[in-house]
Parts: sequence; structure tokens; C-alpha cells
Amino acid sequence: MTDEAGGLVVRAPNHLGELILALPALHHVAAVESGAGRRPAVQYMAGMEPILDMAGLEVERLPIQDRRAVREGARQVRDTGARRGILLTPSASSALMFRLGGLKIRRGTGGGWRTWLLTDAVPRGPLLERHRVHEFLALVGAEEVEKVREPPAPVLRVPEAVERPDGAGGRRVVALFPGANGESRRWPAGRFSALAQRLAAAGRRVLVLGGPGEEGLTEVVASAGAAYGECVDLGGRTDLEGLAEVLAGSDALVTNDTGPMHLAAALGTPVVALEGPADVRQTRPLGARVRLVGRFDLPCVPCVKNRCPRSGRGTELTDARNECMWLISVDEVESAVQELLEGSGTGE
Ligand code: SF4
Repeated sequence: MTDEAGGLVVRAPNHLGELILALPALHHVAAVESGAGRRPAVQYMAGMEPILDMAGLEVERLPIQDRRAVREGARQVRDTGARRGILLTPSASSALMFRLGGLKIRRGTGGGWRTWLLTDAVPRGPLLERHRVHEFLALVGAEEVEKVREPPAPVLRVPEAVERPDGAGGRRVVALFPGANGESRRWPAGRFSALAQRLAAAGRRVLVLGGPGEEGLTEVVASAGAAYGECVDLGGRTDLEGLAEVLAGSDALVTNDTGPMHLAAALGTPVVALEGPADVRQTRPLGARVRLVGRFDLPCVPCVKNRCPRSGRGTELTDARNECMWLISVDEVESAVQELLEGSGTGE
């Protein structure tokens, strides 16, 4: 990106997980602009403020209520007086906001008619081989950081209200997140229920988390676990701040490929990530205390689809549909949890 004088607006990704993966790039931008005596603006989806707070990002905040409200977003951009913009979303509407917002230099990944709205369209193909953290770093021009083989892990400060688990013989808390945006990314509810039962029976305090609309699922899992010990249903009962507090106060999280997976990893909470159709080269959670569990040897993995396109007989099962998730056993997930608990304390 040409380093011309003038303010800079960065459009952050819309979704929680991607926003967290964009944090190293946003910190890079904030440091470079601050070195030049400027304060960059970050346009983001309203409601994500707790992430910006926990990240300690020193930027001008431009919250948008509706990502399709192009005129409103463009007015917001224009009011900053900035000349340059970087898009970390691959959407045409955000490119249009930048164009209508009067930004003279507009950088982002090309594709479709978005390419014509940008002045610096970066081909996405080569970036797809890399982790999303690297993709975002490349887009903001952080060449040196971007060349590092292992992407830097996003870091969030633990909310002040939270007491971190001490791992010193207290009752271990294990959070479960059985939901996910795409049905193909969900480990079967019955497996989560069986895991909740085993963990509760072993004396763990189990917390079942879920977003709005996932209350039915969390209730099923939590009630299965509650028959064997302490298992609490928190589905739909936490806002983003509350979710961060619960995750930061847990000894481990078992989750499908979700935003809370990245949130927990960035907070330093040990994570067992159940991976199916996702391309883990691009979107795996980062951090020393992360375990990926999945059948990466299946020929269809990763399909990166929210609905499984397979039917008929599977590679190992009689039903091919969602085989990548069905082949993950409760035993291996329980072992991964135990391994992480032992790594962060007594395991008892
Ligand atoms: S095609 Fe394969 S990787 Fe994709 S959802 Fe189906 S079983 Fe999983």
C-alpha cells in the first residue's frame, strides 16, 4: 500500500472469529499510524466493542449497525476525512462504502465487481494458502510479520471481573459449545451430551454455552450432564462480554469451529477444537494450549461447506453425510480435555 499522507480507515471483519484473527493486523496498523502521528479508524459491526476493549486497540471506532446500510457506512467514512482504506472483508458492499465515502486509495482482495471498486485489488488465490492472520497482515502491508512461518496468535486481556482458574486442586471447570453456524460443523448433540455426562460424573463443573437460537440444543446437552453431576445451561444467557468472562474463568473449552473457539484461544483458555469441514490451515485457533481433533485424513476434508454435500456410503461409516464429525469419538475428545487439564494444573 502506498504510504501517502492522509487518514486511514480499516474495515474489520464482521464475524467474531474473523475479527479476532484480524487483531494482529489491526495492532500493526495502529502502531504504524501512531508512529506517523495519526490515529486510524476501524469500521466494525456494532456489538463487538468488548473485543476492541480487551484487545486494547487505540483506534477511532466506527460502529455500523447494518452491514448492508451502504449510505450510512459511506457517510461515516467520509466524516473521518481519511484518504486511504483497507478492507479486511471480502464484500462488495464494504468496498462500495469506501468508494462512496471518498477514499482515494482502496485496498482489499479482488473478486467479482469488487475488483472495480478498489484501486489496489490483491489476488486472493495465493492468500488462501495461508492462515487468515497472515492474510490480514498481508493486506495491511505488514510484510515482515507476514513472512514469519507461524502466524502470531491474537491476544485478548482477561476481563477484570474474572478470577482465572488457579489449577491448584480446585474444582475444574469445563465449558462446552455445541452449536455452530453451519450444520456440517456440528459434532452431534448426542456426543456432546455423552461428554457432558462423563465430565460431570468425573466431578468437573460443566458449563454449556450457546448463542441466541441455540437454547434448545444447550438444554438437551446440559440436562443430559446434570443427571450425573453439576452441569449448567448458559445457552442464550450470555452477551459477548459475559461469554468472554465465562471462557476466561474456565479451565478448558470444547467447541465446534466457532467464534467462541477463537475468543477462548485469544484469552489463553485451553481449547479442544472439533474440526470437520473447515480448512485448518486458514482458520485454526492459535495458541500453545489448543488441541485440534478431527479426521484430517478423509479425502473430502476440508470441503469448507456449511452443509455436507455427500450422500450414500461413507469412507468408514454406512452414511457419508457429516462423516467428518461423526467419526470424532467421545473417547478422543475426553482424552484431549484431560491432557489440557493436566497441562494447566493437577487435572483433578
Ligand atoms: S464433505 Fe466431508 S468434510 Fe465436508 S461436511 Fe461432508 S464429511 Fe465433512
